[in-house]
Amino acid sequence: MNNKEKAVVVFSGGQDSTTCLFWAMKRFSEVEAVTFDYGQRHSLEIECAKNIANELCIRHHILDMSLLNQLAPNALTRDGIAVKEGKDGQLPSTFVPGRNLLFLSFAGILAYQTGARHIVTGVSETDFSGYPDCRDQFIKSLNVTMNLSMNQSFVIHTPLMWLDKAETWRLADELGAFEFVRKKTLTCYHGKIADGCGECPACRLRKKGLEQYLQEKGAGKR
Ligand code: ZN
Repeated sequence: MNNKEKAVVVFSGGQDSTTCLFWAMKRFSEVEAVTFDYGQRHSLEIECAKNIANELCIRHHILDMSLLNQLAPNALTRDGIAVKEGKDGQLPSTFVPGRNLLFLSFAGILAYQTGARHIVTGVSETDFSGYPDCRDQFIKSLNVTMNLSMNQSFVIHTPLMWLDKAETWRLADELGAFEFVRKKTLTCYHGKIADGCGECPACRLRKKGLEQYLQEKGAGKR
């Protein structure tokens, strides 16, 4: 791996993208982070991302994506829409159509401008609620399209693609970032940092993975 290369990390201040940030810092000589402001219910999410980037001395870009909110009102952006898990193969109310398509395309444009060849995103097929734009096939397809559109040789990295939540905690631990990720990231749909509200789908997923990982670690299965 050539580490004299630059990467842009799509960064929300959550567990997954913060783990990706540490992963990228290990791997590339220069790392920048990009956060998209699309009118998340909790502007705290942006604050949290800002604080983490500051603390890690990472150059941080915050891009206005309010257009996405305008086009696709959803449970993450509107107080009037409840956070619901998808039942019977339906997508949950937190699904924002086209989100990763747009985010990664804009990350690509930013990477073009800043001279970065690598783009890192924390999407995962494993534990997610079936979001189509978290699938490996979509990412690979978009990577080709972006390269064709800008005549570049970007590489989109998805270090969490095949990891479940417990394995994502393990990766954070291996990167020496377990405590940092546990205490400083925001995953909760209700805007509570670290261990969160404990009740929303995001918190339950995070907690289940954490407990599983701690149990495995305690049992020496590392
Ligand atoms: Zn929560």
